[in-house]
Amino acid sequence: MESLTSCSGCILTLLSLDIFPQFLERTDINFFPFISDKKDFTKSDIALVEGCVSEPSQIETLKEIRKNSNKLCALGTCAAFGGILGLSKKKRSDPISKFVEVDYIIPGCPPPINLLGNALMDLAENKPLKLSEKNMCYSCPLNGDMKNNLTTPITKLFPQNHKIKLNHNNQECFLKRGILCLGPITREGCDHQCIERGVPCEGCLGPPSKDYTSNLINFLSLIPLSNQLKRYSGIFNRFSKPILKR
Ligand code: SF4
Ligand code: SF4
Repeated sequence: MESLTSCSGCILTLLSLDIFPQFLERTDINFFPFISDKKDFTKSDIALVEGCVSEPSQIETLKEIRKNSNKLCALGTCAAFGGILGLSKKKRSDPISKFVEVDYIIPGCPPPINLLGNALMDLAENKPLKLSEKNMCYSCPLNGDMKNNLTTPITKLFPQNHKIKLNHNNQECFLKRGILCLGPITREGCDHQCIERGVPCEGCLGPPSKDYTSNLINFLSLIPLSNQLKRYSGIFNRFSKPILKR
C-alpha cells in the first residue's frame, strides 16, 4: 500500500473497516502507511495506491510498484481519476493510470465502506474486482421519470438547508427540483449515501463507462442550466479531469 498526494481519507477508511483485521489475517503486508514504516516494494501479489500524482518523483515510485506487483489497484478517486486536487490551479493531479497500467479501481472519495470491504476481500481471495456499470439513477430511491426531469431549469447546486432532510414529502428527484445532480453520469455503488442525506450526487464514483468529461459535456448540454451554473467550471475538475495521455 502506498499513498501519493492525498488527504489519507481512503487509507483511514480502509483501516476503520470492520473486516480490516480479517484482511490482515489473510495477507502479508510489505508496506502500509500508518502500520509499517519500512518502505519495501519487493514482489507483491497486490499493490494498492491511494492519491494522485502531483510530483515527478511519484512517477518513479509508481513505476517501481508496478514492476514489483502482479496486480495494481487504484484506491479512491484521486488515484483513479485525479481527484479533488484537480481544482487547484497550481498543482497537477494526474490519475495513476496516466503513468502505469492499472488492473482495478476502487472509486469513491473516500470509497464507500461496503464497496471497499467487498473489494478488499475479493483481492485477498485473488478474485477479480467487478464494479457496477449502471448509473446512480438506476437504483436511486428518488428515481422518477428521468425524461421529464431533464426539462426543469437547473438553478442550484445544493438544496436550501431546511430542505436537506429527505422525508416522505421530499422524495422528488433533485433534477426535478432544479438542483444539479450528477447521478445520471455517475457509477452506482455507494448505496446513495449523499442522496439519502439530502445531498445531490457530485460524481465522486466516476463514470460508469467511457470518459467522465465527455459524459459530463453531453449531460450538461441536455439540461437547461442557469447562466450562473454555466460559469461553474469547477464541475469539470472536482473529481476527474480530462485524461491526456503522454
Ligand atoms: S479520494 Fe478523497 S478521501 Fe481519498 S485521498 Fe482523495 S480526497 Fe482523500
Ligand atoms: S438525478 Fe440524482 S436524484 Fe435524480 S434519480 Fe438520478 S441520482 Fe437520483
